[in-house]
Amino acid sequence: MSEHVEVPESHPRYLSLLTRHRIEDGVEKGITSMQGLIAQGRGEAFDYLLGERTIESADAAERAAAAHFLLANHPVISVNGNVAALCPGEAVELAEAVGADLEVNLFNRTDARIQAIAEHLREHGAEDVKGLTADARIPGIDHERAKVDADGIYDADVVLVPLEDGDRAEALAEMGKTELVIDLNPGSRSARTATVPIIDNVMRAIPNITAHARALRGATDAELRDIVESFDRETALDEAERAIRNGSFD
Ligand code: ATP
Ligand code: MG
Repeated sequence: MSEHVEVPESHPRYLSLLTRHRIEDGVEKGITSMQGLIAQGRGEAFDYLLGERTIESADAAERAAAAHFLLANHPVISVNGNVAALCPGEAVELAEAVGADLEVNLFNRTDARIQAIAEHLREHGAEDVKGLTADARIPGIDHERAKVDADGIYDADVVLVPLEDGDRAEALAEMGKTELVIDLNPGSRSARTATVPIIDNVMRAIPNITAHARALRGATDAELRDIVESFDRETALDEAERAIRNGSFD
C-alpha cells in the first residue's frame, strides 16, 4: 500500500518520508522486523541532528572503509532487514565494486525473513547470497544470534556491518576482524567497537563507499595502507558527537 504513496520531491522532508515508506514496505514484504521500525526511528533522530548530510569526518571514514575493502582477502557485507529495505541495489553495487560477498545476517533470525531478503537482493541483481547455510557460530554470543556462514562472515577478514547490534559487533571484533560499522549513533557500542566507525545514514554511506572504491581502483597497496593508517577512529566519533551536540537548526 505504502508503495503507492506519492511524496513530491520538493517536500522538505522528502528523503525522510521516502525512507519511512521503504521501511514500511519492508515490513509488509516480510523483510524488515518490527524491531527494525524502532531502530529506524532512533536513527532518524540522529540524522535530523546531523543535518541529514554526510559530515566531512564520515566521508573520511567512508574512504578508509573503501581502502580496507580493496586491501581485504575476503570482504563480506552483512545485510539485515533495514539495509535490505533501504538500499538493496546499492549494497549489491558495493559488493560488485569491491569483490565482497553479501551475507544476510539477522538479529531476529527467522528462515522466512532470511529467504525473503535473499530473494529481494537477487531481484536487485545479487548473484550469490550467503547466510542461508548458517554452519558456523560467532564465539561468545547466544545460539540464534551467533549463526553465520562458515565461508562467509566466519571466514571474512573485513566485514561491513551496518546497524549492527552492540554484542555482536564486540564479538566480531574479538574474532580479530576488521570491522566497518555504519551507525548514526556515535554513542552506540557498535560504533565504539568498530575499526572504522561510519557515522552516517546507510543510504548515503554505502553509495559513497562505492564511489571512493571506484576512485581508488588504480591505487597501489601502499597508497591504500596509507589511507587506512591515517584514519583516526576517535576523531571520527568525536567529530560526529560534536556535530550532533553543537549543531543548529538554522
Ligand atoms: P547499542 O548501544 O547496544 O549498540 P543501539 O543504539 O545500537 O544500542 P538499536 O536500536 O538496537 O540500539 O540499534 C539501531 C541503531 O541503528 C541505532 O544506533 C540507530 O542510530 C542506527 N540506525 C537506524 N537507522 C539507520 C540508518 N538508516 N543508517 C544508519 N544507522 C541507522
Ligand atoms: Mg548499536
